[in-house]
Amino acid sequence: MLSPVAGCSALPPNSGTKPQNTPNRRRHFISLLQNCKHNNQIPPIHAKIIRNHHHQDPFVVFELLRVCSNLNSIGYASKIFSHTQNPNVYLYTALIDGLVLSCYYTDGIHLYYQMINSSLVPDSYAVTSVLKACGCRLALKEGREVHSQVLKLGLSSNRSIRIKLIELYGKCGAFDDARQVFDEMPERDVVCWTAMIDGLVRNGESNRALEVFRNMQREDVMPNEVTIVCVLSACSELGALQLGRWVHSYMDKHGIELNHFVGGALINMYSRCGDIDEAQRVFEQMKEKNVITYNSIALLSACKIHGNLELAERVAKSLVACKNADSGTYILLSNAYSSSGKWKEAAEVRTNMREEGIEKEPGCSSIEVNNEIHEFLLGDLRHPQKEKIYKKLEELNQILRLEGYTPATEVVLHDIEKSEKEWALAIHSERLAICYGLISTKPLTTIRVVKNLRVCNDCHLTIKLISNITMRKIVVRDRNRFHHFENGVCSCGDYW
Ligand code: ZN
Ligand code: ZN
Repeated sequence: MLSPVAGCSALPPNSGTKPQNTPNRRRHFISLLQNCKHNNQIPPIHAKIIRNHHHQDPFVVFELLRVCSNLNSIGYASKIFSHTQNPNVYLYTALIDGLVLSCYYTDGIHLYYQMINSSLVPDSYAVTSVLKACGCRLALKEGREVHSQVLKLGLSSNRSIRIKLIELYGKCGAFDDARQVFDEMPERDVVCWTAMIDGLVRNGESNRALEVFRNMQREDVMPNEVTIVCVLSACSELGALQLGRWVHSYMDKHGIELNHFVGGALINMYSRCGDIDEAQRVFEQMKEKNVITYNSIALLSACKIHGNLELAERVAKSLVACKNADSGTYILLSNAYSSSGKWKEAAEVRTNMREEGIEKEPGCSSIEVNNEIHEFLLGDLRHPQKEKIYKKLEELNQILRLEGYTPATEVVLHDIEKSEKEWALAIHSERLAICYGLISTKPLTTIRVVKNLRVCNDCHLTIKLISNITMRKIVVRDRNRFHHFENGVCSCGDYW
């Protein structure tokens, strides 16, 4: 985050209604804002600021935007910004930063362009934020544009910007570009190395990721937690149990704490490599009971895949008992029951979930077409091109049926009719996003979809087939990982 001092040093003189006793009042409001602990304290202070005609004072507005962003009131910050006359680059940057921190990446990118179009020159803070947004949105085209601005503005030696560029290119699978930025860095610390490894792992390039990791060790750079997680993930992918064990012992030797982050990765690695006993041992060793959910979900997934229903039950029950179950836990357990035909138990889990007041987060997929993000929910009918999208969906379903594909209806709730079950699967949000991508982009263009939840088994299988039928590369980033579908196979090897 841009520091208020750095931001203030070059602010233009205040315009608009002249507030009284400016420096003292300004200091007063800034200190009031800095002492805010909760977002409900902001509106009354804001009202006071308006009454004292300080609402166009860039110093005060800067602090307002910063405090709103930190206290999770990004909507309020946007409103304040929209009422600010001729916002300067610091105010733009404060809001861009806030939007990105609150995961409103597309809005952050739009605001950055709005700033450029107002002939303001972005500084390194704005560039760092927007590059992060481009990385999270996989907006490679915009990211490249920002990169060329970086070169023109002479910001290319900035370390944070370089790291964000490596992350952006890595996430988007543009490894040559990532490599070039990486090679040009005068000093490569663990963060740079990890950014490279992470990009490769996310895109299923596990062998290359491990090669980079070995080079990193040759240069005597100590891995951090994030590196360890990335390497474990590559091991899972390759089924490289021996290397995974080596990383585990490396962690023990160097006193790397078994927190939920690293623990989850270890559990995942052991589960995937088929060593469920070791996965369970790590699970039981974990101290952080409050954030246990993530690990258990990894273990639950493994139990489901390896058909270990008994262990799945035990893990899920311990989670429910310590009030740590979220919707994902319940759904995984319920699906584990459904797929072994235990409908009664599956229904009970769903009932418990409702009784505990845990809502299922709605699935939402987005796709970027012609610089615009299109979002789809389950069975979404809001899109202006909905007729064409559903027509494409039906067309694909027919081809799939002709190819002998049968939907995996057991993942859907059991209390609906079979044809309805098929329909419920067919309208999962990622399929709508993919169909929109198919009708709105040129043949052979790669389709990139981002989904907030895990892709279900049936969609995963269907997307593999769609990639084959349409001869398209389809990249789906779900809650857990990236899936690169091509010629009927997925980079995850059907484990996710
Ligand atoms: Zn699905
Ligand atoms: Zn996959």
